[in-house]
Amino acid sequence: ESRSAARARAAPRGIVASSEVEQSYIMIKPDGVQRGLVGEIISRFEKKGFLLKGLKLFRCPKDLAQVCFIRIYYLPFIFSQEHYKDLKDKPFFPTLIDYITSGPVVCMVSTSFVILSCKAWEGAGVVASARKLIGATNPLQAEPGTIRGDLAVQTGRSAPTFMNVVHGSDSPDNGKREIVTLLFAALWFKEGELCQWESVQTPWLVE
Ligand code: ADP
Repeated sequence: ESRSAARARAAPRGIVASSEVEQSYIMIKPDGVQRGLVGEIISRFEKKGFLLKGLKLFRCPKDLAQVCFIRIYYLPFIFSQEHYKDLKDKPFFPTLIDYITSGPVVCMVSTSFVILSCKAWEGAGVVASARKLIGATNPLQAEPGTIRGDLAVQTGRSAPTFMNVVHGSDSPDNGKREIVTLLFAALWFKEGELCQWESVQTPWLVE
């Protein structure tokens, strides 16, 4: 029997329990939505072979993007959940919040399968791989072929916040933090909004 016939016959296999699957939170920022790049950007992740687990158009409230006084005061344990908390001391932080809340964003969760028996995959999971597809933070420095390198030029409308069309989690831990619902502290998705499914492509993508 040929290898491809065997593959075609094979049920999706080797997929580990969902707790071991690496997930990245990918977001098309307001400039990407306004410029009609939603299909183009989604298609790059689809073509790469990532599995789409969640997708929605969403208007980001300010307190999700930035540090909110009420949350800090009443619910200190949620403090760590704000999306851009690590950047709150940066000079561009206020304009970053204006930018990210200036229009709808498209929220996505992508997954790649970490196969325990195949160590090469562990280092090349969806988080690092998506960051490569996305390209450097400054669109003027992003390589051609990357999403930011191909689709973004501006370095800020009125103030110096890079408008760079897309976000991708910068570590597996941040991927979890940005997606997962922790008691009251859902960040971008709520319980039940992610879709558990297996793609027929999986046996052709992962060995
Ligand atoms: P990335 O989105 O590449 O992971 P960061 O998490 O460091 O980058 O920053 C979040 C966002 O803040 C960036 O995508 C960009 O919009 C903005 N930003 C980051 N660094 C700068 C900077 N030095 N000048 C202007 N805007 C910046």
